[in-house]
Amino acid sequence: MIFSSKAPKNYFSHDELSCRHCKESKIDMDFVSKLNWARHIAAVPFVVTSAYRCPEHNKSLGAADTSSHVKGIGIDLFPRDNHHRFRMLSALLTVGFKRIRIYSEKGHIHIDEDADKGMEILVIDRSKPIEE
Ligand SMILES: [Zn+2]
Repeated sequence: MIFSSKAPKNYFSHDELSCRHCKESKIDMDFVSKLNWARHIAAVPFVVTSAYRCPEHNKSLGAADTSSHVKGIGIDLFPRDNHHRFRMLSALLTVGFKRIRIYSEKGHIHIDEDADKGMEILVIDRSKPIEE
């Protein structure tokens, strides 16, 4: 797959991808590379609301211990509007992401590559974006 090669640009800062509570970052770099490709193709901002979470922070949010965020293979993005969400979703599918959840409350997009949880899913969910 062509999107396994290095993306033409890095669009994400260390801070954006690290734990919001302790700044630790154990995010998977292949995952980040794929996200960079999606961001490149989408050509709209990917606002990160949650990426890597240390186990302690994840627990404080009430999220499951098996969260893909703790494994460094999950991220939540916040589209500014419906058009941006379309561009993001289209690009995420183009580069081969196979697990996507859209939170209907605020429209966040959760993406992960957690093979333990089944592949090729698109979920629309009303619950808060902390469960994965
Ligand atoms: Zn932390």
